[in-house]
Amino acid sequence: MLITGGAGFLGSHLCERFLAQGWEVVCMDNLVTGDLRNIEHLFREARFRFERRDVTEYIHVPGRLDAILHFASPASPIDYLELPIQTLKVGSLGTHKALGLAREKQARFLLASTSECYGDPLVHPQSEDYWGNVNPVGPRGVYDEAKRFAEAMTMAYHRYHGLETRIVRIFNTYGPRMRLRDGRALPAFMSQALRGEPLTVFGDGSQTRSFCYVDDLVEGIWRLLHSNEVLPTNIGNPVEMTILQFAEAVRRITGSTSPIEFRPLPVDDPKVRQPDITKARRVLGWEPQVALDAGLRRTLEHFRGRVATGG
Ligand code: UDP
Repeated sequence: MLITGGAGFLGSHLCERFLAQGWEVVCMDNLVTGDLRNIEHLFREARFRFERRDVTEYIHVPGRLDAILHFASPASPIDYLELPIQTLKVGSLGTHKALGLAREKQARFLLASTSECYGDPLVHPQSEDYWGNVNPVGPRGVYDEAKRFAEAMTMAYHRYHGLETRIVRIFNTYGPRMRLRDGRALPAFMSQALRGEPLTVFGDGSQTRSFCYVDDLVEGIWRLLHSNEVLPTNIGNPVEMTILQFAEAVRRITGSTSPIEFRPLPVDDPKVRQPDITKARRVLGWEPQVALDAGLRRTLEHFRGRVATGG
């Protein structure tokens, strides 16, 4: 199998999972936001191969491929601001190239899509049949629209070419190997708490999110790939909380006494987000197993290490 973006946060956990299940894994990444430290422990595996390549260029993988997981993309609000064109290209051109390769190999294709497809949602919680409220020209538009295009392209390859395709809409996910400086809430709060700095809550912190531990997400993706479900499927943890509550949970787990500092809310920051996972429960028999406190404790060690080494 091939995992694009395999050196990223989610990609590296997927590489591990598929290797553990006996697959041969080709991990492709251009390392723009991916990090070799996420996969260096896999290099000793004979069934693992890394290729530093940009999936928006022509991609070729010799031999048989049974599955392609397309996870290459910048994926945090700071990245969209710094890498707007690359974000658009990998979601559109990159998805096209990966689909073309899947077609050539007759491989099953799984697209990493996102709850950002729902934008700043007017329906709550979000189920898969909601079409979303996306600002195409805002700073997040480069990610949201690229992923919406990617979904459309994936469905076209399914309908027109008969390709076996799957689409996962991933909600906020956290865990070890998140980048320290990706600007997301969890790395920001954890590193601030560990350094004794104020926790920067954007807006008044009343906006909500629902955080899924990475192992739960990987299990959901594993099941989705092996299912027959072609239309998009939400995978996320439905336990919703305000960002202020989330910051307080990080403070509790780290034992930090850092104060909370309020900062301006970024443009188009969704006010609410919560997955409706009725479909995942029904079709995949899946639901999250890891509670927030347990997940945060497992993530803490990773951030302690990264903060100690300065990145
Ligand atoms: N956030 C925050 N402080 C930070 C980083 C993020 O309050 O230092 C907020 C952000 O405005 C958003 C929520 O936390 O409302 C989740 O942000 P994240 O970037 O993790 O993911 P998003 O769901 O926005 O893609």
